[in-house]
Amino acid sequence: MLNLEQCAVSEAVKQKLDTMFAQKRVPQALIIEGDYARTTELARVLAAGLVCQSQDNKPCGICSSCIKAHAGSHPDIYLAEGGLTPRSFKVDAVRAVRSDAYVQSQEGGCKVYLLFRAESMSAEAQNALLKVLEEPPAQTVFILTCPTAHLLLQTIRSRSQMITLDDTAEEHPEAIRIAGEIAQALIQTKEIQMLQVTAPLIKDKDLLKEVLNQLTLIFRDACVQRSGGNSFLSDQTEQVQALCRAIPKAKLFQLEQVVNEIQNAMVFHANMTILVTVLCAKLRAAAGR
Ligand SMILES: [Zn+2]
Repeated sequence: MLNLEQCAVSEAVKQKLDTMFAQKRVPQALIIEGDYARTTELARVLAAGLVCQSQDNKPCGICSSCIKAHAGSHPDIYLAEGGLTPRSFKVDAVRAVRSDAYVQSQEGGCKVYLLFRAESMSAEAQNALLKVLEEPPAQTVFILTCPTAHLLLQTIRSRSQMITLDDTAEEHPEAIRIAGEIAQALIQTKEIQMLQVTAPLIKDKDLLKEVLNQLTLIFRDACVQRSGGNSFLSDQTEQVQALCRAIPKAKLFQLEQVVNEIQNAMVFHANMTILVTVLCAKLRAAAGR
């Protein structure tokens, strides 16, 4: 299982977080900005660290709290997530978070609220969140993730500690190529091409991670373009257009959700063969192949 040391974040960020934990000064609101895979991975690790019962080296990975955190079943870690479309993080979901925050912790420790894709909160939802951030209940931590904090209201930002996962990672030409090939393989009826292009991912977790990031961009572009909008996040115009021609909009949307599922699964599952096999099967099913 992951700890802070193993997260794909810079040394500076690790040090900042280590200091917060060591001094027991974790702010009550954190915004982690960066790509979805890395921000949510770090957020989950921090949540485990906050509920961990070990004295140091949190999350220890072996105490019952860590085990529950990693199984996604810790009663004091609450996850709410927006979708890919603006305002899909509904005000009702935020209100539910807010009322839960005033209920006492079930295990007597810290309560953590993971709010993923916070950028998809409407202004109304953000204002609802703001109310609890202004006077957060004791021992409660809110962790928001988003591509960039500028997508959030200034009032939210000013009450939160910012963690930026700066994109120091170089361009990944191989990941870009493979993601493009996966997009092409999705249009084919036969499975063989998909299996061939994804084969190198089984042995390389970092490459898989990066390919998933690229796929998110391609599918998002395709979704938006299929709806008549402009989106050029991926720089893979040909593949995006081919997907738009071959796959209906609802299915394009499902493709992005499959990628999201695999990104979440990657945090806790180490068996790469299974992950890649499931990725291929689910992508093909989502594309109606
Ligand atoms: Zn622990």
